[in-house]
Amino acid sequence: MPPEGDQYMSELITPKAILFLDFDGTITQRDAVDVILEAYADSKWLTFEAEWRSGRMGSRDCLQAQMALVRATRKQLDSLLDEIEIDEGLIGLLELCAERDVPVHIISDGFDYCVRRILWRTSKRVHALLRGTRICASRLEARGHLWRTEFPFFHQTCGYGCATCKPAVMRLLNRVHAPAIFVGDGLSDRYAVESADLVFAKNGLAAYCSENSVEHIPYTTLAEVARHLDRWLVSRVFLEDEMETCASA
Ligand SMILES: [Mg+2]
Ligand SMILES: [Zn+2]
Repeated sequence: MPPEGDQYMSELITPKAILFLDFDGTITQRDAVDVILEAYADSKWLTFEAEWRSGRMGSRDCLQAQMALVRATRKQLDSLLDEIEIDEGLIGLLELCAERDVPVHIISDGFDYCVRRILWRTSKRVHALLRGTRICASRLEARGHLWRTEFPFFHQTCGYGCATCKPAVMRLLNRVHAPAIFVGDGLSDRYAVESADLVFAKNGLAAYCSENSVEHIPYTTLAEVARHLDRWLVSRVFLEDEMETCASA
C-alpha cells in the first residue's frame, strides 16, 4: 500500500502516465512459480493449475495449495531462481520511463521472495532505476524445507480470489488517474487489462485479449514495448500541447 507521503506527492504532480509491469514471464523469461513447482512440487500441483486456468479456483487458493506441495530447501530454491533470465530490454524501458517521469510499479501474482532474488542480480543501474518502484506480490517464507504463503495485499480476497488483486493495486497506486499502461504475458493478467488504458500483451495474455476483444499491442520483448511507448508518450505530449493551444486561442 502506498504510504501517506507518496499519496501526497502524487497528488501534487500528475504524471503523463503510469506503467505497471507484470513480473513472471514479462520481466523474466520464465515463470518463477512454475519453475519451482515443476522441480519441487508433488505433481498434484497440475490439478490446481487446471482449476485456476478454468476460472474455478482463484489464484490465492491455488498458490496456497500448490506451494504447500513444495519440498525444497532455501538453497535449492535460490539456485533455481538464479537460473531464470531477465528480458534484456528491461533497462531500456526503465531508462525511458525515468526520462519521461513515468512511474513504474511491479505487480505480481507470484512471490516477493522470487522477485527480489531475481532483481538483485541485475546491474547497479537497474537497482537505481527501480528505487521508486513498488513491488506488489504475495509473500513466501521458508520454514525448513516447507514454504509458507502470505497475502499482504488485501486480507480479504476480491471476487476473483486473486493472490495479488492487480486492478485493485493499480487503483491504489494511481489515485491521480494518470493513463495506466500495463505490460503482461499471462492469464494472471486477465483482470489487470480491464483497468488499463494501454495494454502490451504477449503469449497467453495476447491470446486472452484477442479472444475477449481487449484492445492490446502484441509484443515479444521489452525493447519493443519501450520503442512503442516512446512514440505513444510523444504523441500524447503533442496532443496535450495542441489542446492547450486551442484552449488559449
Ligand atoms: Mg506473468
Ligand atoms: Zn482480484
